[in-house]
Amino acid sequence: MKLKQEPGFSLVELIVVIVITGILASAAIARYKSLSDATEAATCKQNQFNLETAQSFFYMDRYMDPDQTTRYAESFEELAPYFPEGRLPQCPSANGEYLLLPNGVVDCTDAGHHR
Ligand SMILES: [Zn+2]
Repeated sequence: MKLKQEPGFSLVELIVVIVITGILASAAIARYKSLSDATEAATCKQNQFNLETAQSFFYMDRYMDPDQTTRYAESFEELAPYFPEGRLPQCPSANGEYLLLPNGVVDCTDAGHHR
């Protein structure tokens, strides 16, 4: 007596394929998240550099004016004229915000974005 083989996949074969697909997908998602974080950090560090460059321009403008007592900008709004359309760069991370430190240094509140 010969058993009739039904066409298609068995339940075990389907489960094996689903498990392997899940493992591959989780590895790809982890890699994507890692690359996304690295891209955000690099963009943020470049933004900080651009803000410090604007701070240098602000300083030079103040340096030429003998009536000014403060040389560095005390708020980011003072740096806005040095950016196209007055738009200040923002940290690409949702929980990052720029800080204006003494001597024209700029930092980000996101721990992974320090220079
Ligand atoms: Zn940042």
